[in-house]
Amino acid sequence: MLAGSHRLSGWRLNYEDAPGKPDFAFPDYKVAIFVDGCYWHGCPHCKRPLPETNHEYWERKIQRNIKRDQLHDMQLRDAGWRVFRIWEHQLKDKNECQMLLDQIHAILGEQNG
Ligand SMILES: [Zn+2]
Repeated sequence: MLAGSHRLSGWRLNYEDAPGKPDFAFPDYKVAIFVDGCYWHGCPHCKRPLPETNHEYWERKIQRNIKRDQLHDMQLRDAGWRVFRIWEHQLKDKNECQMLLDQIHAILGEQNG
């Protein structure tokens, strides 16, 4: 979706020079975008059931992911980045995608002007 947009330029995929390696980044504008998998990042909207076996193991794993996400957000914000997180399921929704793109545009435009 983001990759298909010709209106946005200067974005990088899997940007390694920022904490957490954002899925999409606009280094010039310090805008970082993460696409979080609903399952692995504990999406409250989807709430997919954990496997019956090793339930605690998965629970802990997901909690760890969430904590790590929060840490990366903090590190990025401390470094002056603006952080967007979208859920995997939101990518399937055209309106949600458009809303996100609009927000990013607003920020990029703001800094251009
Ligand atoms: Zn979800």
